[in-house]
Amino acid sequence: MSFMHRIIYLVLLLLAPWTHAAAPEPPPREARRLELPAGGAIDTRASIQFIGTATVLLRFGGITILTDPNFLHKGEKVHLGYGLTSTRLTNPAIDFEQLPPIDLVLLSHLHEDHFDRKVRQQLRRDVPIVTNLRAAAHLKDAGFINAIGLRTWQKIDIVKGATTIALTSLPARHGPAGVAALLPDVMGSMLDLRDAGRNYRIYVSGDTMISDDVTTIPQRYPGVDLAVLHLGGTRLLGLVTVTMDGAEGVRMLQLMAPQHAIPVHYDDYDVFKSPLADFKKAVDAAGLSGKVSYLARGDTYDLPIKTKEANSEKP
Ligand SMILES: [Zn+2]
Repeated sequence: MSFMHRIIYLVLLLLAPWTHAAAPEPPPREARRLELPAGGAIDTRASIQFIGTATVLLRFGGITILTDPNFLHKGEKVHLGYGLTSTRLTNPAIDFEQLPPIDLVLLSHLHEDHFDRKVRQQLRRDVPIVTNLRAAAHLKDAGFINAIGLRTWQKIDIVKGATTIALTSLPARHGPAGVAALLPDVMGSMLDLRDAGRNYRIYVSGDTMISDDVTTIPQRYPGVDLAVLHLGGTRLLGLVTVTMDGAEGVRMLQLMAPQHAIPVHYDDYDVFKSPLADFKKAVDAAGLSGKVSYLARGDTYDLPIKTKEANSEKP
């Protein structure tokens, strides 16, 4: 980061609130539906496996979703725009080449610690990628023909055989208002996994701070079973915090009031300044330690939801 870069960045920060006068977002379009090709053996697992950064594998009723795929290794750099880079400090639990077949990628935003150059090169061009509108337009230009952009609060039903995951795009803001306007749009997600009439509800925060819009989420989507929280207290230029740190993570826990939570995105890059220990301490102080599972990279959390036998499924 050169001196000039810092100056340019600071000028942009100061101009941001004026250059990005809020254009009201149009209301969400009608719900969409994505039919995934069925076939092959049905994987009856219902679980979340933590790969690293914000990358997890969600398996439910035969659907496998990969979130924010980041498979770079320790020492490799990501570009975060405006000449900013950050170095990876960890390795993913598995390599991209070791991934199981993926039905869908859920992408919160287009920062390289969430969708890296290796993934850009190697991911199948036809895999559906559900993300925000801007990221989808960019990915389509890059040849990902099935990138699907959602407006905030818009819903898509992801259907494979008898399994449905209803995914709703949620507000998220990558830092204070002026700064977030300079960073990629971010989408939070609510995933309703439907299993024999039961809902298992998962909130995935995306890289966000708690904004007024974010505080409305639990009014519209109460009863969260599991929250996957992007933490790290990411600091740009050593100045601006653009993701939740430990204390903000606990405020988010209190806001969403999930049955259970899993922290991710906390120690993988040198711009992540709030270690997991900060969050643990704040969780303990808030009396919430029973609600949090700390997964090491590679660990799997089995979702406490009954899965049906493959051959007993009826629509
Ligand atoms: Zn990030």
